[in-house]
Formats: sequence, structure tokens, C-alpha cells
Amino acid sequence: MTDTSTSIDPVAFAAELIRCPSVTPAEGGALDLLETRLAALGFTCHRLPFEEPGEDRVDNLYARIGTTAPHLCFAGHTDVVPTGNTRDWQVGPFEGKVEDGVLWGRGASDMKGSIASFAAAAADHIAANGTGAGSISFLITGDEEGPAVNGTIKMLDWLERHDEQIDHCIVGEPSNPHELGEMIKIGRRGSVNMVITAQGKQGHVAYPHLADNPVPHLVAALAALDALVLDQGTEHFQPSNLEITTVDVANEATNVIPATARARINIRFNDTHTGASLIELVEKTIANIAAARSATISVSAKISGESFVTQPGQFVELVAKSVETVVGRRPELSTTGGTSDARFIKNHCPVLEFGLVGETMHKVDERVSVQDVEMLASVYATVIEGYFAKASDFAAERQGRP
Ligand SMILES: [Zn+2]
Repeated sequence: MTDTSTSIDPVAFAAELIRCPSVTPAEGGALDLLETRLAALGFTCHRLPFEEPGEDRVDNLYARIGTTAPHLCFAGHTDVVPTGNTRDWQVGPFEGKVEDGVLWGRGASDMKGSIASFAAAAADHIAANGTGAGSISFLITGDEEGPAVNGTIKMLDWLERHDEQIDHCIVGEPSNPHELGEMIKIGRRGSVNMVITAQGKQGHVAYPHLADNPVPHLVAALAALDALVLDQGTEHFQPSNLEITTVDVANEATNVIPATARARINIRFNDTHTGASLIELVEKTIANIAAARSATISVSAKISGESFVTQPGQFVELVAKSVETVVGRRPELSTTGGTSDARFIKNHCPVLEFGLVGETMHKVDERVSVQDVEMLASVYATVIEGYFAKASDFAAERQGRP
């Protein structure tokens, strides 16, 4: 298995992937390209297109080599966000240009660069060790930047139905704010959105006794919500945060007391809470205000995601140590930022995120340094090597899971 033709240059491969214009939901040739390369390495590939009424059909790829535990999975997406006006770019967003140590193009950072890096690392590992101890897989969706309906969630269901048990997962999202090695994401805050509606009685401003103005009721309710201290933060999380995002009355008239007033809030919350416990807290707070004012104020809520954290243990430590070995800095273990597909994977196995620098993601002139791509490939290679060197430990951790 030391055939050098199966080695992968991470920078050249990332550039090839960038040349596939895979703006969600278009496959753009990116999954075909990845499948071809992984199949050549010996991976068994499954294309998993999913569709449902009202959503675009999306293609996905699950590729695995090895049949035994432990099973290390790399999760990511080949779809990219739109380019915006291509004339605003210094280089064509799908040119895949490499110049003066910089890899340019849409997806360079988010996240074709990390897919190519992991593929290069896996290729090196397979060339050196074959597929003896355990399994490596790629769980790659074409629907991360879009509605995320026909992507990772459905693939995870598919894995479960086919007895494909992944034991540990690295998501290749750009986890570093400014420099490679700064940050591993080991969890995320949860998010819940609520609409607060105060119902009054419309009337003439000159006859307020004949009306019931909902605006002061809403203002009192929002003041009470804004005064809540949700928590002080926890070991791995910053304090939970409630933001009033909009207040709407839409009253054009100067002489009319409106009938309703509405506000929206968003809460980003840590592991002190659940979406349900926060909805209960807000409902209780609102009910007290409503009772004190004899007002009618209602709450509707939608939970976008619960918080989660992968407790630092041998897996997190392996990745942190690998980053330290290659890059020379100890990464911060963070739970900041927006959501990713890790929120779905966490129901199946321990998951963390480590990828490139995210400074230019979703922007014009998305780019990464060539050196970072090469170092990321080395970090992933070190992770893979360490993982299978301790295969029995990681497999045992799997056994211990409920
Ligand atoms: Zn991404």
C-alpha cells in the first residue's frame, strides 16, 4: 500500500475543488471529484441524494474505508455560498488560483481547503498503514449553507439505518478567527427565538379610557425580560444572552392607539438552560407583568437548537495536542459562534470542529494561506496517526457509550 500515485497534494486538490462551482444546492462536480479521489484510495462510496417537497434535491457523499472500530469520521460540506458580484473579486471565485502563497476562491476557507487537507492526511495514513486498525470516513453534504434539510440530518439517519456507527467526528469548519491553531470548537450555544405580543384595544388617543394601549404593556414586558440575568457563564460557555431584536407596532397614524404591539427576542444560551426551560422562564416573567397590568401578553417560541459541549477527554486532547505539535500553539477550547452541522452529529458521537482560518469566509476574495492548508493537512495526519495508535482506547470509549 505504498503506491505514491495515491498521495494527494492538499493545495492542488483544494484548488480543483474550488473550480467546481457548487453553490448550494448545485453539486457542481465537487462531490464527483471527491468521490473519484477517495474511491482510488480504496474508500467505499455512497452517493446519498435526498429530496422532499418544497426543498431542492441535494446530493451528498458518504465514503468509508475499513470495517472495524474505532471509526473516525470527517464531516463537512462541498457546497458554498454565492459569490456576490464577481467583478468585486480580485480573482475569479471559481478559478482556484494559487499565487504568492495564497489559495483564492469561494470555498477556500469554508470549506474545500479542509476537505482537501483531510483527504491528503487520510491518503498518507492509508499509504503507510493500510486499513488495519479501524475505519476512516467522510460525511460530506451539499446542503450546509442552504436550508440543511436534505443534508447531514438525513445522512445521519441513513447511517443509523445501515448500522454505520461513527465513534468520533471532526467537522472541518473554519474554526480559527485569525490564525491557524487558535481555536477548536467543542460545542455551541443553543438558540431560541420568541415573539412577544401585547394585545390591547384600538381607540382614539383623545379618549384613552375607551381604549387599552398595548405599547406600554409590551415595553414593561420587555424591560422585565431585559433585566433578567440568565446565568454567569459555565466552565466552557460564556453567559447566556437575551437580545430584543425588533419592536413592531406599525402604526402610521398619530391619533390612534394601536390594537397590538409585537416584539421579537433571541436567546443564545449555554448548558445551564434548555430551550424549553427558557421558554418557561420567559412565559412566567411575562405572566407576572401581564397580571400586574391586567394586560393580555402572549409568547410564541421556536427553538433553533439546544446547546451542547463535547467534554474535554482523550479525543479533544488528541486534537488539541496535534494542533500544538504542528502549529506550535495551544488552541483555545471554545463554544462561541454560530451553529454548524455539529449540532446534529453530537447526537451520534463526540464531535469537535477544527479547520482553517475563517476571516474571509462568505466574503468577496475568500482565500487562505497555502502554508495553512499544508499545516492543516499535517494536523489532521497527526490526529489520524494518534487516533489509530490508540485504537483500542478509542474503541473502548465507544463501548462505554450508552
Ligand atoms: Zn461551512
